[in-house]
Amino acid sequence: MHCYDCLQEGRADSAGIGMCARCGLFTCQDHGHVVREHVHRAGGLGRTTSPVQARRFVCDTCRTAETAH
Ligand SMILES: [Zn+2]
Ligand SMILES: [Zn+2]
Repeated sequence: MHCYDCLQEGRADSAGIGMCARCGLFTCQDHGHVVREHVHRAGGLGRTTSPVQARRFVCDTCRTAETAH
């Protein structure tokens, strides 16, 4: 799978490494971000987040949208 953003820039030689969790497009390492995040667990008393951080892959565009203020 080729990276969507690279194709937009006219590069067809890149290798996509993952699918954006938000928009579903395939992007390469340059155009995507692997982000760590806490997982919220439903129910239970006290601690509601997992002690281990999960991993999520999002593309540049969605990452920018998520962090824009
Ligand atoms: Zn790319
Ligand atoms: Zn995306």
